[in-house]
Amino acid sequence: MPDASDADLLDGQALSQAVRDEVKADIATWTDDHRPPFLSAVLVGDNAASKAYVRGKEKDAAEVGIETETHHLDADTSQDELLDLVHDLNDDASIDGILVQLPLPDHVDERTVIDAVSPSKDVDGFHPENLGRLMRGTPRYIPATPYGIMEMLSRSDIDPEGMDAVIVGRSNIVGKPLANLLLRRTANATVTVCHSRTKDLAAHTRRADLLVAAAGQAAFIDADMVKEHAVVIDVGINRVDAPSTDRGYRLVGDIDFETVRPKAHRITPVPGGVGLMTRAMLLRNTLKAARLRAESA
Ligand code: NAD
Repeated sequence: MPDASDADLLDGQALSQAVRDEVKADIATWTDDHRPPFLSAVLVGDNAASKAYVRGKEKDAAEVGIETETHHLDADTSQDELLDLVHDLNDDASIDGILVQLPLPDHVDERTVIDAVSPSKDVDGFHPENLGRLMRGTPRYIPATPYGIMEMLSRSDIDPEGMDAVIVGRSNIVGKPLANLLLRRTANATVTVCHSRTKDLAAHTRRADLLVAAAGQAAFIDADMVKEHAVVIDVGINRVDAPSTDRGYRLVGDIDFETVRPKAHRITPVPGGVGLMTRAMLLRNTLKAARLRAESA
């Protein structure tokens, strides 16, 4: 039972539902005189988490009126075969967005495959052209997780302007693009990006007005590392053993939720926080891809 003094939850369920409702309404209008947006997903191998993610994306898409197909390739598919498929999808005018589910098997160079996706269909926003546009301040597709975090903040009336924002994690899909978004003149935060070689991480996190944890380390940021009244965004998704549950594990974030919640101003839960926003923003990017394709046709 939350205490009255606990931080308000940033409820990913409600906020992502609002995004999905908007995308659905926009697609309903769009399809008055266009075909529905079409997303093609590529899944290589049998990684259970990846399969579940792709199934989730197919379901989300269907709910808002996006059509999908999934190319499920064997784990031993060669890099050249995969690249051939990506090129075919790039050339197919009936496809608006392409998503290659990561991670790829070890024998495939992820970067080469990401670079092969047409930047105009790259709804994940991982292509260097799209990352470059984001860094320059003129984004086309914003990677869905940082996009979802910014959407969460704006829909919750949290203005990052002037805040000391500290991001823990420097990946290309979360930390770096989020740093760029928070630095934009539309956000105006002062940004610090911490990583595994940061000296005295706690000294940085303790002065964060906005703390974003994206390291992939279960509950490693406790109340002692968080400033009183901070806004805390937990991106991490970590499995911890829970023998008493049906699955044998439960999901936790990078934030030690129970100890941090009473100290924070706002906080995202895991699950039920950023992950849901990520899923919703992919839908928005796919609609954008359909619009861009129609404009350039
Ligand atoms: P990654 O492994 O690519 O990057 C992790 C980053 O954290 C690295 O930059 C590393 O330097 C840093 N790091 C690791 N341990 C650290 C420590 N002890 N102190 C400081 N920095 C540390 O991971 P990623 O793909 O960015 O994902 C990060 C986490 O977010 C994972 O748990 C992942 O499952 C989760 N994730 C969630 C979503 C979502 O939608 N909620 C989306 C993407 C990733």
